[in-house]
Amino acid sequence: MQIKKDRSALHVFETLESEVRSYCRSFPAVFTKAKGHKLWDRDGREYIDFFSGAGALNYGHNEERMKKKLIDYLANDGITHSLDMATEAKEAFLKKFHDVILKPRTLNYKVMFPGPTGTNSVESALKLARKVTGRENVISFTNSFHGMTIGSLAVTGNTFKRRGAGVPLNYTVTMPYDNYFGADFDTIKYLKRFLEDNGSGLDLPAAIILETVQGEGGLNAARFEWLQKIEQICRKWNILLIVDDVQAGCGRTGTFFSFEQAGIKPDIVCLSKSIGGYGLPLALTLFKPELDVWAPGEHNGTFRGNNLAFIAATEALSFWETPAFEQKIKQKSERVNHFLQSIVSNHPGLQGEVRGRGLMQGIACAGDGLAERICREAFKRGLIMETSGPAGEVVKLFPPLTINDQGLDQGLSILEESIQAALDQ
Ligand code: PMP
Repeated sequence: MQIKKDRSALHVFETLESEVRSYCRSFPAVFTKAKGHKLWDRDGREYIDFFSGAGALNYGHNEERMKKKLIDYLANDGITHSLDMATEAKEAFLKKFHDVILKPRTLNYKVMFPGPTGTNSVESALKLARKVTGRENVISFTNSFHGMTIGSLAVTGNTFKRRGAGVPLNYTVTMPYDNYFGADFDTIKYLKRFLEDNGSGLDLPAAIILETVQGEGGLNAARFEWLQKIEQICRKWNILLIVDDVQAGCGRTGTFFSFEQAGIKPDIVCLSKSIGGYGLPLALTLFKPELDVWAPGEHNGTFRGNNLAFIAATEALSFWETPAFEQKIKQKSERVNHFLQSIVSNHPGLQGEVRGRGLMQGIACAGDGLAERICREAFKRGLIMETSGPAGEVVKLFPPLTINDQGLDQGLSILEESIQAALDQ
């Protein structure tokens, strides 16, 4: 293979890496260093991070206390790889997760470690729901995203991603998410009718899987009331409720679990991304103890015992020991919301709509390719952010939850400049 002579900054990647690469196309720089809410590239350019590793860096880059714990652990030759053997690192994580997260929220869940990515957690949740109920069907929602392996793709809405499967995606039914047809259409009534009516063609499903705020699907935030009604439907028909909190969890929407504010208790919860704290791969599948019907090793994987991730994850849970962290997220979310509302009213050309919840908000823009252009302009100005939604129509703000006011203000003001620049084109 020939390396190109007229070298672009990304020539190694362009020549040697597969066409499947994506984020390096949106953010064309070679990154070398990162701290908190900032990144630097090889030329020393500084960037503000409003992307946070697509939700894997809620606590920012290279957080100091986690870094120290990791360095100490490595220096002492702590176990790194252990499949799912019992290690001290895992024991400490399980205890702290129970004490700091589950117990205060009166959530009685068993913890399963699937492979270390979000889609691994979703696959295990779907398998478990089918095993427990003996049913095959799973209901998912329009514009959902649950991962790229076949089972997760089957409950994902996006046509482009689904097509990549290359095989039929079976045993799933898509129903309209809250607000899919606009505020006047009752999607709960629609779903209920399908379940009640013997002529609907819908077989009773094993589970309903949903995101409380759709991260990839356009930052659609389901109303708490809608989530409560979905839970009631699940209870009435004996359907398991799976909340995929891979992106919306770990504080992104304001509370540790995104469903807390709705007061619901899912049967199964998928967690990944920021549960590893430091951007290290880790995933959990949580479920009510009575659902723990797995036989030993029935769902396994080589990288379930990511001990470095356990070390960082245990330290990351310290953020949740007092209510202060939640309060700060709330304040920042309100600031972001006010700012976005004012941008939408000050820039009528955007025909914008503010979407999302917590530090998972954005603006849906009417113009074709407009959100994409805004993110490109932002990158030129040193702000990293991505689009979301079926047509990439939403500008998505995803700063680390730990970002300080100055960083937040800087990022927001670059965003406003970028919107103006994109509208002027
Ligand atoms: N579920 C949700 C809600 C997600 O946002 C994602 C990733 N964007 C996944 C699952 C899949 O996670 P992973 O990419 O780690 O497999």
